[in-house]
Amino acid sequence: MLTIAIIGRPNVGKSTLFNRLVGKKLALVDDRPGVTRDRREGDAKLGDLTFKIIDTAGLEEGHEETLSGRMRAQTEAAIEQADGIFFLFDARVGLTPEDRFFAQLVRRAGKPLVLIANKAEGRVGTAGAIEGFDLGLGDPVPLSAEHGEGLADLYEALRENW
Ligand code: GDP
Ligand code: MG
Repeated sequence: MLTIAIIGRPNVGKSTLFNRLVGKKLALVDDRPGVTRDRREGDAKLGDLTFKIIDTAGLEEGHEETLSGRMRAQTEAAIEQADGIFFLFDARVGLTPEDRFFAQLVRRAGKPLVLIANKAEGRVGTAGAIEGFDLGLGDPVPLSAEHGEGLADLYEALRENW
């Protein structure tokens, strides 16, 4: 089955999107201590499409000097395992240096990707979504994972990419 990894800096809404696509039944597949502790996999459903989805999270407690190293390792592992990527940024905040750091990782992977401008509900979000073009990762799909808006556009983007 197709596997998609949800990638992005902390707080962009990755877990919210994961929960939205997986529904109430969350599959906690790996609760071992270590880098994969917060990683979750689930069976996602979007219209008539079904796929496996990986939520990356996982900032472990620890020292700041290795923070980006851990984020990077976990993200790269998920990207490697996945057939495709949902790359999220926060349409309310706009692009940050951290977004660009993660964008570089996914760009290098060269896998099919949907760029998602999350938290795009309302007028503020729509304006912020435009910033996403600057990443060079394709047209941003405005979405509100929390309110369930934009899922039809995500469906279309998924069909176009795979
Ligand atoms: P993660 O760190 O990327 O997994 O982000 P979370 O899913 O934990 O969400 C971070 C915060 O953003 C939470 O407070 C969510 O409620 C909020 N959030 C997630 N999706 C949306 C959205 O579509 N709109 C708004 N306004 N907030 C959202
Ligand atoms: Mg999360």
